[in-house]
Amino acid sequence: MVQCSMARIRELSPDVYRKIAAGEVVERPLSVVKELVENAIDAGADEIVVELGDGGSRLVRVTDNGRGFPPDEIALAFQRHSTSKLIDLEDLDRLTTLGFRGEALASIAEVARVHLATATAEGSGREMALEPGEAPKITAAACARGTRIQVTDLFFNFPVRGKFLKSARTETNRVSSWMEGMALAWEKVAFRLDHNGRTLFDYPRADTLQERAYQVLGRDVAATLQPVVKSGVGLDGCVGLVSRPRTGVTHRRQQFFFVNRRPVREKTLMAALNNAAGPFLEKGKSPVAVLLLQVAPEEVDVNIHPMKLEVRFRDSRAAYSMVYHAVSAAMENRIPGPGIPHPQLKGSGGSGAFLPRENSLSGNVGDPREFQNGILEFPGGMPEERGFHILGQFHDGYIVVEREGELLVIDQHNAHERVNFERLLRQVKESKVETAAPLFPLIVQLTPSERESLQEREKELERMGFELEPMSGGSVAIRHYPRLLKESMVPDALRGALHLPEEEAGKDLEVLAGVACKAAVKVNQSLSAREMEQLVTDLFACENPEFCPHRRPVIVHLSLEEIEKRLKRS
Ligand code: ADP
Ligand code: MG
Repeated sequence: MVQCSMARIRELSPDVYRKIAAGEVVERPLSVVKELVENAIDAGADEIVVELGDGGSRLVRVTDNGRGFPPDEIALAFQRHSTSKLIDLEDLDRLTTLGFRGEALASIAEVARVHLATATAEGSGREMALEPGEAPKITAAACARGTRIQVTDLFFNFPVRGKFLKSARTETNRVSSWMEGMALAWEKVAFRLDHNGRTLFDYPRADTLQERAYQVLGRDVAATLQPVVKSGVGLDGCVGLVSRPRTGVTHRRQQFFFVNRRPVREKTLMAALNNAAGPFLEKGKSPVAVLLLQVAPEEVDVNIHPMKLEVRFRDSRAAYSMVYHAVSAAMENRIPGPGIPHPQLKGSGGSGAFLPRENSLSGNVGDPREFQNGILEFPGGMPEERGFHILGQFHDGYIVVEREGELLVIDQHNAHERVNFERLLRQVKESKVETAAPLFPLIVQLTPSERESLQEREKELERMGFELEPMSGGSVAIRHYPRLLKESMVPDALRGALHLPEEEAGKDLEVLAGVACKAAVKVNQSLSAREMEQLVTDLFACENPEFCPHRRPVIVHLSLEEIEKRLKRS
């Protein structure tokens, strides 16, 4: 017979209840590190050392040079819901500190042994030893200004929780990746992490984010990054670093987001970054990014997750668009390039906007370069003024160009695709697509599946300049088409748009890319000198000349250095 193990309802003992509540805040060694490091930053420290023993389960020790605890506040700080940071509920809307719940120290003291040594600038030092459930013992002690909190034997009195801890290596990795994130957000704070007496990293104070990125991400990656600078209305701004065009990595592990210098994982932000940067990188590559969003405190809710790893934006579309525009502007080089210093993020201290207004660009992200119109017009300026020199055509498919000390081999088809794409995109955006009408409507016979997708994609096609009229017997009459296309290409271009895979349909850009491709010159087509001049000029006027809309490279760059190396001259 099955024994029923369910007992009668009883009230939980305060001891059990407190431990359960503490367990919500303190889940693993990382939680302890996080709370103590955040407290150190809130206390104005600019030097923080974290030492772990056995992945943090035996020991977490955090030492800071912050303002220290006034002697009479020590015991109070370890009581539940005591905080110096939040006075009433309205303050929740205006938080500028990392901590505010006033439960971290109390929770830690519930599930581990705590030892504290602290001194303020004025007061004499104090030490305190605290065992769960016992009265604190506070004594006078000589210590430097700042605070050292030592947490030993985590979960010694909460074995169920202790069992869930992973290996020392895993717990240490969690701590180190979180701290790397914090180090990126707080470049003016020095961070060190030790495990079992060995130093894992030691980042000195940095003046700029760029410098901190060198320390944290390494020279190779940091060298591929360019600044992002953007301020906006409502949401305040987004600054940081992002991969330059044609760089990137094959994973997404180095995409760091911070909202008011709190590390966050937010799908919206990740999507904005990857959508904006993706088209400038090769297929399969993802951007590296460190993006710091400054948002008015009332625009975000940071209180939805006990560890505060998630935030909620009041207006997540605005957050998406802020990141998207900031990153796009950087990729299109519409902001000061790498030669111009990165705007300094204002020092640590957790409050105030870190993007000084005078450093910010206007919200207006219009491209200063005017797009050339009309494919057959000769663009302004004499060839020598345009800074490149056409050497010729190779294999009827590639234009060979000399520019700024580099030899460029340009794929004429991909280049033309890019030029068409941007021209059409601009026309679509401005709702000014140039169309052409055939003398007689072009009749195209469609298959049942093509007809179905025509119904779904009619709007996009219309925006792109197609005017279509369904006919009996499953065919369609084309009355207008985008002027970019040669008449003989039109049926093909239409079919191409109808055959786009499901996940790409509905995305104007993909349909556009298809049209741009159909309108492009082919390889195996000999071009006149004038046609080459035209195409190359148009290409260099593009926002993203390096890749075709399908993300195939357009240009092979050969530097003099590279050539000399191959010829064994250097
Ligand atoms: P919270 O950070 O939410 O205020 P905590 O329990 O983490 O709550 O800390 C309680 C209080 O203890 C803080 O408000 C702060 O006044 C003080 N405190 C904590 N850590 C430090 C530190 N490293 N240096 C100085 N004061 C600290
Ligand atoms: Mg705290």
